[in-house]
Amino acid sequence: SKSKGRNRYEFFSHAIEEQAIEKRRLIEEIRLALKLNQFVLFYQPIFDQFGLKAEKAEALIRWNHPQRGLIGPNEFIPVAEQNGLIEDIGNWVRDQAIEDAAYFYQLSGNIMQVSVNTSPLQIDPSGLWVDEWILACNKHRLPRDTMIIEVTENTLMDPDSPIQQQMQRLNHYGIDIAIDDFGVGYSSLAYLQRLDIDILKIDRSFIQHMETNESSIALVRAIITMAHHLKVKVVAEGVETEGQHKLLEQLSCDYLQGYLFAKPMPTQDFIDRYISSAAL
Ligand code: C2E
Ligand code: CA
Ligand code: CA
Ligand code: CA
Repeated sequence: SKSKGRNRYEFFSHAIEEQAIEKRRLIEEIRLALKLNQFVLFYQPIFDQFGLKAEKAEALIRWNHPQRGLIGPNEFIPVAEQNGLIEDIGNWVRDQAIEDAAYFYQLSGNIMQVSVNTSPLQIDPSGLWVDEWILACNKHRLPRDTMIIEVTENTLMDPDSPIQQQMQRLNHYGIDIAIDDFGVGYSSLAYLQRLDIDILKIDRSFIQHMETNESSIALVRAIITMAHHLKVKVVAEGVETEGQHKLLEQLSCDYLQGYLFAKPMPTQDFIDRYISSAAL
């Protein structure tokens, strides 16, 4: 009936309004969280192909919320991306990760490569974004090739985009570039040749099915073979079982990341477990 229809309409419009209010609240909270320094970085080690030595670490943001506890990035990064807040968050992540990397180096005398996630929206084609990265690395006297920037494939697809040039500048300076979630995005691989990519990170969805699905193995093998021909190293993301590890070792995957070896952890835990203090 008509009245029923209207009720439903009112119900939906009410729900949409609630959502909008909820979102505005979250945006305000994120802004405040930046001001109050409520974000923290966790580190997840990335191991050699035998799973023995932590060679790199991925910085993963968490929100240490005073009431709700630790909140994962999936709950606030997408919202921040819609509101320009990703820029401020990204700058904070960059500075904190560089500071941490400098500290790891100071403690051990060895480079622990630190990998930082970047939203495509953060990358400013004018070059300012790269300038700031280089300035921040210089400020901490970081050795070259300490930092890695992870970008998703779609960031690099367009050969005419000014972002390409900015990626080359990073490379020249000695900041490595990793392709995150490799395999789930666009299908053109031309950018791999065009750009000086250092690392491919094979998405967890492929690793996950390796033990049960022959075609997943074939795909992972093809990616590794291609990458090695292009002198690009490969990280397997989300390795959870010994079986996956064994298969990846057989395929000569260069690096392994996943719960089988270690979960993301607070900075101090990471230092205690993976940064030797030989220099002290
Ligand atoms: P991602 O870059 O693909 O990061 C890997 C995610 O997989 C992380 O989730 C990590 O905790 C999780 N993971 C690692 N090993 C395993 C495993 O063996 N099994 C399973 N099931 N998961 C595993 P997290 O920390 O919740 O991050 C989610 C996403 O949020 C990231 O996906 C990344 O896209 C984004 N993100 C995280 N930190 C930042 C940041 O600082 N800036 C930006 N722009 N995005 C970030
Ligand atoms: Ca990543
Ligand atoms: Ca490089
Ligand atoms: Ca990933």
